[in-house]
Amino acid sequence: MARYVFITGGVVSSLGKGLASAALGALLQARGFTVRLRKLDPYLNVDPGTMSPFEHGEVFVTDDGAETDLDLGHYERFTGVSARATDSISAGRIYSNVLERERRGDYLGKTIQVVPHVTNEIKDFLRIGEDEVDFMLCEIGGTVGDIEGLPFFEAIRQFAHERPRNACIFVHVTLLPFLAASGELKTKPTQHSVKELRAIGIAPDILLCRSEHPIPEKEREKIALFCNVRPDAVIPAYDLSSIYEAPLAYHRAGLDRAVLDAFAISPAPRPDLRRWEDVLDRLHNAEGEVRVAIVGKYTRLEDAYKSIAEALTHGGMANRVRVRAEWIDAEIFEREDPSPWLEGFHAILVPGGFGERGTEGKIKAARFARRRRIPYLGICLGMQMAVIEVARDCVGLANAGSEEFDVETGQKRFEPVVYHLKEWVQGNRTIERKPSDAKGGTMRLGAYTAVLAPGSRAAAAYGTTTVEERHRHRYEVDIRYRDRLERCGMVFSGMSPDGRLPEIVELKDHPWFIGVQFHPELKSKPFAPHPLFADFVRAAVEVSRLV
Ligand code: GLN
Repeated sequence: MARYVFITGGVVSSLGKGLASAALGALLQARGFTVRLRKLDPYLNVDPGTMSPFEHGEVFVTDDGAETDLDLGHYERFTGVSARATDSISAGRIYSNVLERERRGDYLGKTIQVVPHVTNEIKDFLRIGEDEVDFMLCEIGGTVGDIEGLPFFEAIRQFAHERPRNACIFVHVTLLPFLAASGELKTKPTQHSVKELRAIGIAPDILLCRSEHPIPEKEREKIALFCNVRPDAVIPAYDLSSIYEAPLAYHRAGLDRAVLDAFAISPAPRPDLRRWEDVLDRLHNAEGEVRVAIVGKYTRLEDAYKSIAEALTHGGMANRVRVRAEWIDAEIFEREDPSPWLEGFHAILVPGGFGERGTEGKIKAARFARRRRIPYLGICLGMQMAVIEVARDCVGLANAGSEEFDVETGQKRFEPVVYHLKEWVQGNRTIERKPSDAKGGTMRLGAYTAVLAPGSRAAAAYGTTTVEERHRHRYEVDIRYRDRLERCGMVFSGMSPDGRLPEIVELKDHPWFIGVQFHPELKSKPFAPHPLFADFVRAAVEVSRLV
């Protein structure tokens, strides 16, 4: 049965709990343990799938097709363990399960209450897969004291209480603000947030203290005394220049040691941190730099494309170069000529997105990359726009477009080179959709196989001819246009196994131009950069050497 580490946050939000959880997972792995990470989000959305990227950042998709919190991306990038649908839950989902069961009559006429019905539902969720790993790391979203969070805190309190001693611990992430006027770090907010936790029955075992300044020994002792934790369980967490420094930095600060101590695991297995030393070596000893333009819609919030930014960094690490990603709002190109904006970049990436806004700008970015022979990677919507660009400019379909935009406006303006998919095969089942379906959870979601054309650039980059990649979209490139697009030099280099759905397209007479219907960025890791990103950055390096 797994040991449980519950990670909570106090004082303020955005302290990097997700990153801390992910780094702790990596450290436990380095000591030879198996781990799984899980996120419990107190908001009432059933999942983040329908939330705007501006609200919530990127939606991270799992192999089994769940639309989850972006923290699951951190978990995967740090541990390499593929997240599952059962690793992410929200209060919305919990309540919806409880209400569904109430309607079915499962509770036999009882009055339904937060305790025990909602808390039981949360505890059932925590137990899923508990026999598969040594450690289950569960992060509670939000901050202690949030009204929505209370059932979750109550559930983890009960959970720990029901387990044998030494089976569960609590790590609380807090902030030590620095007051410039007095030149001091302040511990009071941390004391208060621990007090709040203790009031609801949770006594933290470890405090991970975010701070911009070194924490003096006497402050550490004070925190230990007032918060009732051991001094060596007060772990400083300073700001880092890269998130990938977190495992080694937290190790040096004693986090994994404190966790094993709290579980009374002795002797502690020695850690093997070579994977992270190599990652940092590649990161810090990069030779040269390439500039990649990301032409997208949600450029105001970097978290909206979190995995893409990380995958580019990984691609740089694979080539031992630094990747400078610069975000450009696609809408600018609807008003202005893209050339002055895109001149000087070594590669162009058009990411995924929804809705028509900005798409004409993305098409222009694809045109610039194609004509100027700049490496282009189009992801999901970025692939669809590249196909539309070629259809308009080369096939001669002046009003080629995506059905998505006509559905949005209720008009018939485009010839749908990209169309709404109503029925497809996943494994051995057929899935059907209607345009009137609800928005949440109804896209083509999760891992699908693509068969690659031998000799294609995609097959060369992957070094294989069958791949599994994650999807999240409603629309597909229509293969009825395949012949005409192929006559223009477009190669359908990756297809679904039944040959119906284009998964990858590329241009024959171009140094590097690939569009993918899936999201390769979701599977990239610092210690295993995604082959497409590695090859894309390699192509960018070649361009940078020419200029
Ligand atoms: N909006 C497009 C579709 O639904 C692309 C989605 C995406 O880029 N993730 O097909």
